[in-house]
Amino acid sequence: MNYLPINIDLRNKPTLVLGGGGVALRKIKMLLKAGAQITCISLYFEDEIQKLSKGQKLHLRKADLVADSAKILTTAFLSKYQLVITATDNEFIAKRVYQIAQDNQILVNTVDNRNLCNYITPAIVDRSPISVAISSSGTAPVLARNIREKIEKMLPQNIGQLAKKAHSMRHAVIQNIASFTGRKHFWERFFDSEHADDLLNNREIVNNETIIKSITNQLKTKGEVALVGAGPGDPELLTIKALRLIQEADVVFHDRLVSPEIIELVRRDAELISVGKTQGHHSVPQDQINQLLVKHAQKGQKVVRLKGGDPFVFGRGGEELQALKQHGIKFSIVPGITAAVGCSAYAGIPLTHRDFAQNVLFVTAHCKNSIDTLDWVSLAREKQTIAVYMGLMKSEVLSAKLIAHGKNPQTPVAIVENGTTQQQRVVRGQLQNLSERIASQNISSPALIIIGEVAALNDDLAWFKNHEPINNETNRLKIA
Ligand code: SAH
Repeated sequence: MNYLPINIDLRNKPTLVLGGGGVALRKIKMLLKAGAQITCISLYFEDEIQKLSKGQKLHLRKADLVADSAKILTTAFLSKYQLVITATDNEFIAKRVYQIAQDNQILVNTVDNRNLCNYITPAIVDRSPISVAISSSGTAPVLARNIREKIEKMLPQNIGQLAKKAHSMRHAVIQNIASFTGRKHFWERFFDSEHADDLLNNREIVNNETIIKSITNQLKTKGEVALVGAGPGDPELLTIKALRLIQEADVVFHDRLVSPEIIELVRRDAELISVGKTQGHHSVPQDQINQLLVKHAQKGQKVVRLKGGDPFVFGRGGEELQALKQHGIKFSIVPGITAAVGCSAYAGIPLTHRDFAQNVLFVTAHCKNSIDTLDWVSLAREKQTIAVYMGLMKSEVLSAKLIAHGKNPQTPVAIVENGTTQQQRVVRGQLQNLSERIASQNISSPALIIIGEVAALNDDLAWFKNHEPINNETNRLKIA
């Protein structure tokens, strides 16, 4: 940072503007807004400057800055001012003024000449008493103005009123709330409250005393968050606890994976917020979800964060809880039936079986870095079942890698699409034709891939929806 932005108090401070043209006028207007006492020296003055000088704060002095330089461009004269703006295009004057100002620690700005400035003015959004200053450190003033326009649009017109309101409440808040942290929480809550909203939207606002009472009460009721697993889709697979919590919640944040039938069970007058993610497209970024949870809990609400399957299985539930923990918000966790468990049951595929699989691995093909971080040697071992989450896009690499690491290409596979719901489809195949089966049967997300001998048991054990598996006869496995 080449320049430190600071806010300077110029009320009634002597300031000097050299020049009386359009540029000087702009600077004079800015200084008048800041309440400065201005002297403006020039041979002639714009009409508007003359008009402004009818007020108390602007004094005009007619002089030729070059001819009178012996009087004006001196340490004795310039030292009377706290801040000087040179708005003439005469380089001799600008350099002289700059040199004297530098030697005497006077703030000086030469319009359009950064080398002759010891301070520069930012682009300003003025919603007094709120002001926002944007600076490109002189590198790209037009960009700074562009940013200013964006901020202008973003900031509510009445934001200054809100600051004034807060100021009017300050004394009473100090009287009512002894601790510094308590007051900090009060203000955080206030600026986010319906009262602040009323003010920003020009609605009638109640008196200070009522506001302080209402916010203090809100702060007393502590909100909490329950991280709830909704299971794979069938609403009857919800736990009793999950059902109770979604029926008690004031607000429910849910993923795209949570089935519509489950959403139906949420209390009618609860707020329902979708923060749904589709693979690769995070409709609400994770840190924003974290912030939303914190914000609603801080309002004293009962918040449910409803996630497909189990919140701790490929669900980033841990990251959300860490954010809550940081803000001291109480939370609880309700496990759910994860997709592998739900899909395997509803597809009639036991994940383990004494003859075919002694262990089961849950893996995701949607890795933070690359799918290559998976342990292919372990995955390729026989006598085990692999349940692959988010595997559709990577199915080709998945089977190629497994086969390359020694897995039998004829290993049975099953792809369970929309498992446990009325739309469930089970497609069977072999490891070597996994991606073909996905493509030819138009499988879409959510789908779980089960790889292992047990997948073939679906032929005999399928039971859900009188479903007829899309079979691949060559894979039919006889149970001994
Ligand atoms: N936390 C979830 C998993 C989130 S990852 C859980 O425990 O189940 C999302 C992936 O889960 C999907 O891409 C898909 O592979 C799997 N999945 C979730 N619900 C599913 C369903 N009803 N049928 C098939 N696969 C499902």
